[in-house]
Amino acid sequence: MKRDRITLCFFIDALGWELAERHRCFEAVAPHRYRQRTVLGYSCAAQPTILTGAMPSEHGHWAMFYRTERSELAVLKHLRMLPPALGSHWRVRRQIFKLHKRWSGLTGYYNFYCIPFGLFAQFDICEKRNIYAPEAFESGVPSIFDDLEREAVPYRAWTWRTPLEQSFAELGDTLDSDADLRFVLLYTAYLDGFLHANIGDEAAVETAIRSIERLVVKAVERAHETSEKVDVLVFSDHGMTPTTRERDLMRDVHSLELAPKSDYLAFYDSTMARFWFSNNDARKEIVDMLSGLSCGTILESGQLREEGVWFEDERFGELVFLMNPGTLVVPSYMGAKAPKGMHGFSPDHPDSHAILMSSEELEPDPGHIRDTYTVMKRLAGAGS
Ligand SMILES: [Zn+2]
Repeated sequence: MKRDRITLCFFIDALGWELAERHRCFEAVAPHRYRQRTVLGYSCAAQPTILTGAMPSEHGHWAMFYRTERSELAVLKHLRMLPPALGSHWRVRRQIFKLHKRWSGLTGYYNFYCIPFGLFAQFDICEKRNIYAPEAFESGVPSIFDDLEREAVPYRAWTWRTPLEQSFAELGDTLDSDADLRFVLLYTAYLDGFLHANIGDEAAVETAIRSIERLVVKAVERAHETSEKVDVLVFSDHGMTPTTRERDLMRDVHSLELAPKSDYLAFYDSTMARFWFSNNDARKEIVDMLSGLSCGTILESGQLREEGVWFEDERFGELVFLMNPGTLVVPSYMGAKAPKGMHGFSPDHPDSHAILMSSEELEPDPGHIRDTYTVMKRLAGAGS
């Protein structure tokens, strides 16, 4: 017997509006297409906004790392004693990360990247729990998964933990075997990783997009065989901007006559640098230096408020310097080399826009990624 209805949501990280329009993808299953404004920041801010409908200042997740005196990662600070050749070797760091993940029991997405171990004394991650499950946010903001649980809607979710092909194979089997299934959210980071390394190679990008499209079309066909009605959403969290310039911002800051740690703390994300100050002289020197650079801009508190990323306790930074679209901080704590593409620039830049594609026309126009939550909730029958 066929199930009455099912909603299939395919969350394709980094499938930007511009890219999706250029490649005219997913039109067969989701012909209604909406350009969406993303949030300022990275996937660790945008994904929670899609899942909760709340802005980062409400759900509490903005940058991956925030400053705190009670970091749960503080034990890692002792690793700063490792000889530099060892402590900065990617294989060693990957092994330490794997051990830490097993030992800590943290289920959220995080990574140590190239962050100096000493900084973990004062920096912690905000995504401690799996956000693709209920009760994920310390702020108490409910997500689509809390709504599904509350309304007892049978659902399944696939996350970054499962490789692309395996997720779709498991989804296919579940569609055949679980007649009660009513809502599916399948997230994939495959395209994001691919675009970071290959953006600009249009033929390779076309092949990557089509490979995901084929899997989606097959899953939708399978859902039609087992369901009376199938609602399809294909959406993203942000786009990808080709890298055009690099700037050694760390060197700029280190060239000032200031003492890191005692005068200021800095965190170098790939498209942002965030600062905390111990005294006014340090603040003035850094502000003066950054104000003279043409590679980016200092974000005023009014802008941070407008973007929904203002935090009263300034845990994510007392001062935020945002790079111009295409210009990366290199080296940064995210990497020693520049990837071919990056996201996390101004949400107003065309390459930053996300997309929501739907099998049905949507009203009102879901023009922001937070609207994806409302659409998912309505289609799931989990309240409006
Ligand atoms: Zn990415």
